[in-house]
Amino acid sequence: WAHTHIQCWHTHSLWALVYTQHPIWAGYDIHSWALRYVENTNTMACYNELLQLERGEVLAQFKLRACNAIFTALEQSQEAIEITNEDQVIQYVNPAYESIMGYQQGELIGKEITEVPKSEKNKPDLLETINSCIRKGKEWQGIYYAKKKNGDSVQQNVKITPVIGQGGKIRHYVSIHRPLHDQNKVRDIQSSKHKDRRKGSLDVRSTTSRGSDGSSQRRHSSMARIHSMTIEAPITKVINIINAAQESSPMPVAELYSPQLGTKEEDPHTNDLVGGLMTVKVGGRGRPWGSIDPHLPSHLAMPLSLNDIPPHVAQTMENEDSWDFDIFNLETACLKRPLTYLGLKIFSRFGVCEFLSCPEATLRSWLQGIEANYHSTNSYHNSSHAADVLHATSYFLCKERVKQSLEQIDEVAALIAATVHDVDHPGRTNSFLCNAGSELAILYNDTAVLESHHAALAFQITTRDDKCNIFKNMERNEYRTLRQAIIDMVLATEMTKHFEHVNKFVNSINKPLAALEENGGIGDEESVKGILTSPDNRILVKRMLIKCADISNPCRPLELCIEWAGRISEEYFAQTDEEKRQSLPVVMPVFDRNTCSIPKSQISFIDYFITDMFDAWDAFADLPNLMQHLDNNFKYWKGLDERKLHSLRPPPE
Ligand code: 5GP
Ligand code: MN
Repeated sequence: WAHTHIQCWHTHSLWALVYTQHPIWAGYDIHSWALRYVENTNTMACYNELLQLERGEVLAQFKLRACNAIFTALEQSQEAIEITNEDQVIQYVNPAYESIMGYQQGELIGKEITEVPKSEKNKPDLLETINSCIRKGKEWQGIYYAKKKNGDSVQQNVKITPVIGQGGKIRHYVSIHRPLHDQNKVRDIQSSKHKDRRKGSLDVRSTTSRGSDGSSQRRHSSMARIHSMTIEAPITKVINIINAAQESSPMPVAELYSPQLGTKEEDPHTNDLVGGLMTVKVGGRGRPWGSIDPHLPSHLAMPLSLNDIPPHVAQTMENEDSWDFDIFNLETACLKRPLTYLGLKIFSRFGVCEFLSCPEATLRSWLQGIEANYHSTNSYHNSSHAADVLHATSYFLCKERVKQSLEQIDEVAALIAATVHDVDHPGRTNSFLCNAGSELAILYNDTAVLESHHAALAFQITTRDDKCNIFKNMERNEYRTLRQAIIDMVLATEMTKHFEHVNKFVNSINKPLAALEENGGIGDEESVKGILTSPDNRILVKRMLIKCADISNPCRPLELCIEWAGRISEEYFAQTDEEKRQSLPVVMPVFDRNTCSIPKSQISFIDYFITDMFDAWDAFADLPNLMQHLDNNFKYWKGLDERKLHSLRPPPE
């Protein structure tokens, strides 16, 4: 109940913003309460939220109906109901409240409870008792004298329930008042309680008896009218407004969480990418696939520390702080275990052990344990990819804007998240796992299956053995914060949320920063800092950072870019082969080794996912060398495609 209830208010908050800003609403009587619900002052962010609602939840009409149903319940209730926010500012009263107390909604909404006159008949310390109880998150129930607008006091049976929202904080208080002078009703309730204890619905009788009363029937018809105006209509209108705005507005309303699927996807490569990476195609029969059997770090427990890295390996890492660092040299030099070596070097550069109060030996065992759980048999999703993402992450963390935005705990979270973000990847996509009815897909309900597994397994590996528990010496609260950040980043690598993350970043960070710069030259330092360091925005920066690091292959020097393209293609080909063998749905038919044009697939990948994201990331972090490589690589693939070549490289002359 509370959940639906919150959603319902949430919808109203978004509505409020559009409501007040769009000319269509001019002339409507805007309730002051609507204005109090603006949770986000950024119009674009609200448009985005709304579009998200339209495309997702609102499309699932039943949710909307549930919302209406709850409002109907509130409006029809014979008990007076009042809802306040956490600061006890009144946000809603129902019609029963109005009629019992003699107030109009508009007179109460927006007022603090303390501003509403109180009856002198209550014991002096009653309010304090109530407050101290509900502020602890506990329900309070008891007898209370309320003062009507006309000054009369009414004795009421009151129940006040704190409503807990996201993050465990109290977001609302719901008070339900039942006048005690209605003796019939009290008797009614008590008798039914005694007569039939098994019956949960104590109120059935009293409700029906009052239902025959003429005044409530009148209310019923006027309620129906109000419903059609204020409950069903706004959200439908909001959807229409968005659609209209998308067509006519010069504002970039089209830059929303999800692109208009179905307009751009004439190209089969893009289609398959979208189908294969962003949606779950269902079909096929169940086949258990993959089991969680994490390898123990002892598999490769060779002595290793920064000091005893073999010289030829150390040499390949000399320029690891450069974007052009060649990870494949390292991969060859260290016999396909680049993550441990590069991890040791990069983690030490960022002071991770000091931050975690963790001995270097523990970090070493941890890196080995994580790396052992990457599949060296995958052509793409092996520990070299993790090392590559770690490398890109560490590179981005050194950019000035990123440093201004993040704190050390964020940096540590980012480095750890990059290291673990694909651990135990089976070399198959989420769609495949769902279609095959794999154990992981069953475990995670076909939702962010791999990403959930990477994050969960990473913490299992880390915490099941003290020897590699890098978090062991952390203070509890700091650990919670770090863990939350790591999980959030790993889950952000899920491609179904790609456009959501990119657009949130652009709208909440790039656009406000650009606006500041336009207004006053470089923008005033304090406001810039405010944007960069707000906790919400730091989350968006971290998500964008790991996403960009994860799919930065097309921004690497040409030779590296070609190698990665070969590896991802091979992994997809292997999946298609297996899908055919197993008679599973082929989720990305263009990735057929007999027919695939790799240049075309890269062009589509860059067009669809990479260009906009890196434009945004470059605007923020300033990455001219990456953009240069991207441009160069794109031209390379175009060149091959124009020659109708399907291969990674042109044939030798
Ligand atoms: P990851 O699984 O590596 O965390 O998330 C990145 C996603 O992007 C993966 O699903 C991967 O298959 C996909 N990806 C990365 N690089 C390329 C590429 O060059 N081409 C295509 N088609 N997909 C890629
Ligand atoms: Mn990855």
